[in-house]
Amino acid sequence: MDDPSVPKLLFSSLALDPLILRAIEETGYTEPTPIQAQAIPHVIAGRDLMAMAQTGTGKTAAFTLPMLQRLLPHASTSASPARHPIRALVLAPTRELAIQVHESVVTYSKNVPLRTTVVYGGTDIKAQKPALMNGVEILVATPGRLLDHVESRNLQLNQVQILILDEADRMLDMGFMPDLKRILALLPKQRQTLLFSATFSDDIKKLAQDFLIDPITVETARRNAAGENIKQSVCMVDHQDKFHALVELIRSRGVKQVLIFTRTKLTAAHVSKQLERSGIAADAIHGDKTQQERIKALDAFKSGAVMALVATDVAARGLDIDQLPLVINYELPTHAEDYVHRIGRTGRAGASGEAVSLVDGEEERRLVEIEKILNRKFPREAAVVPSGYQKHFKSPPVRSHKHAPADDWFSKPYEPSASKKHDEEQQSSPLAVHGKPQQQVAALFRIRNSQI
Ligand code: AMP
Repeated sequence: MDDPSVPKLLFSSLALDPLILRAIEETGYTEPTPIQAQAIPHVIAGRDLMAMAQTGTGKTAAFTLPMLQRLLPHASTSASPARHPIRALVLAPTRELAIQVHESVVTYSKNVPLRTTVVYGGTDIKAQKPALMNGVEILVATPGRLLDHVESRNLQLNQVQILILDEADRMLDMGFMPDLKRILALLPKQRQTLLFSATFSDDIKKLAQDFLIDPITVETARRNAAGENIKQSVCMVDHQDKFHALVELIRSRGVKQVLIFTRTKLTAAHVSKQLERSGIAADAIHGDKTQQERIKALDAFKSGAVMALVATDVAARGLDIDQLPLVINYELPTHAEDYVHRIGRTGRAGASGEAVSLVDGEEERRLVEIEKILNRKFPREAAVVPSGYQKHFKSPPVRSHKHAPADDWFSKPYEPSASKKHDEEQQSSPLAVHGKPQQQVAALFRIRNSQI
């Protein structure tokens, strides 16, 4: 995260209260990330802010820490709900992101008597009511559920001093504009507004124009989007060979954790199931899973019980997983900007990471779109597919999964026993660029076995 244009700073020089500094120290951060160094002083000074920052840049702390600093004069140990009106509202597009932002607020505010809670859809609304009725200074919410609570008169927004829109571009993509307008109409005009977005599209600029006053603009995402600390590559593969190329890729890297992206829920579920059948502990998170199932899958992934997490774009928004070494795009995203969000899961906060995209002929159009927004061109490498699994040596017609016959590549598990022959062949193959010794492959399967 070193950016020569940003002078090195210490958290202690950022005018944060010792109680907040202590919480930062306890998390183990040594210095602010560029977005934090740039945003925190302005937010403490009360300015509106428009920040271009994607997940992985430290953006959550960039708004949470100065928000806490500004709310500190209102911190109170009083039991009276009236002493705890909502003073800061953080809006996030998805439940996952809302939960993770809330967790960060809890972490950074642990030494100060400021209350916080989170509300999101898909769970029992009644269970969220008591925390609201008791009073909270900081509310993290998804827009739809927030409005449900407004309608049920479970909360009031007329004392909000700070509004934070996190991943605003995603909120617009997900069609939250009408909800946002309704919410904004309920807030005091005199307030501070912070807008965080991975991209500055015309729609985002318009949103900022309408709702921010003379904002400071900070931009740090480009460096990360260009992937200086993320090794990005593109492997071309026939559609029918994709699954086996995926398994080969995972095996060859010998990593303990991999996040795999698909475009559809169906593919996410299939890929996860097939990985399990191939001996790789996997789970999927997508829109058809309940909140409980998603949390369970995420926890299993974080703890290492599950090695491969297969996710759709929406389900993966805001996932905060430290030190994720590898992201694989099993399918390229529909929206090119999502590519940036996806690869931002690796190479976080300065760590190095790798992102590999498995691209078939039908997806080249999408790849070109991604290259346009990144302003770079990827060399097209050939994916490694074990020879026993190659269905097509020449470009085949592309089939969709649902038309594939039952005995096709997708339902044929990858058997580790086939790997020996494959490894031998790899050594003489010009395609064997990602070959790893047999011991690493064995280690991979030991990980799996020790975890079930
Ligand atoms: P975010 O961009 O908010 O999703 O944060 C990405 C990751 O960076 C999270 O795991 C944070 O815990 C971590 N992080 C945030 N600030 C710092 C910092 N100053 N130093 C090291 N890690 C950080």
